[in-house]
Amino acid sequence: MKVAEVHCKSILTRTLGYLKAVSSHSLNPYVGCGFGRSACGEGCYVRFNQWLMQGREWGRFVDIKVNAAEVYLQTVEKEKKWARKNTGSFSVFFSSSTDPWQPVERKARMTRRLLTAMQTLPPDRLILQTHSTQILDDLDRIESLSVICDLRVQLSIEGDLDRLPGLPPPPCSLADRLDVAQQFVDRGIQTVVCLSPLFPMQAPDVFFSRLAKMGVSAVVIDHFIQGDGTPNGSRTLKTKLPEAMAKVSPQSVELSYRDTVARIARKYLPVGVSASGFAGHYK
Ligand code: SF4
Repeated sequence: MKVAEVHCKSILTRTLGYLKAVSSHSLNPYVGCGFGRSACGEGCYVRFNQWLMQGREWGRFVDIKVNAAEVYLQTVEKEKKWARKNTGSFSVFFSSSTDPWQPVERKARMTRRLLTAMQTLPPDRLILQTHSTQILDDLDRIESLSVICDLRVQLSIEGDLDRLPGLPPPPCSLADRLDVAQQFVDRGIQTVVCLSPLFPMQAPDVFFSRLAKMGVSAVVIDHFIQGDGTPNGSRTLKTKLPEAMAKVSPQSVELSYRDTVARIARKYLPVGVSASGFAGHYK
């Protein structure tokens, strides 16, 4: 893993494309991801972003934006004004192209510093997205932020299987991520489970009923077809993910699988699909 310190000129990025429907801004304290060589890294949509990759191998590099919190504080008022005028509210998706609680965070603490800066100047809405149980390091900080802004935690749990054949293990086990969801629910924090990209499921009724009993607010279901930014999932089709999925369930590599699973999930709790789900629209 090549870790580098970089200085950023901006940290609040006005969203475009898919994310425009989700939030006014995205915020990424790191470039690259230390989970890139785990199961989620195989189909990770970010690995197709050549501008971020710059010829590097996904999962082998992390750039730490060492001045991220300072730049946030310097630019937040201007971006808030722009967002409220142009999109109605200032909402931040944290993070769209990295994991805020990846392993290097324990040393660098860029995410923690940004959360601390937000306690001084919060966005109107904050979406925290992670695969990692390390988010619990900041549980108290997140709880206090949830009092001063509209905050939700989105935990990435792609399905009810811990491993897919031929893929490495996930960043954190299924059981541990469910435990994290429970801890946030118990603190009264809006908690959403994101099946993105959706992996084949063994017993969806059992899984969604369990989430509902835990008190999870909603689930978001997104398939790699369309989800990876191409109409037919052609980017993901170049990775090992579809083959691993098909070994468990051949139907799971079709877009219709997303809708089948969404129908089952709706029996138990509110469901958002793809971009509108990430934007917090559930039915
Ligand atoms: S944790 Fe997120 S950003 Fe990192 S490799 Fe997995 S899906 Fe990609």
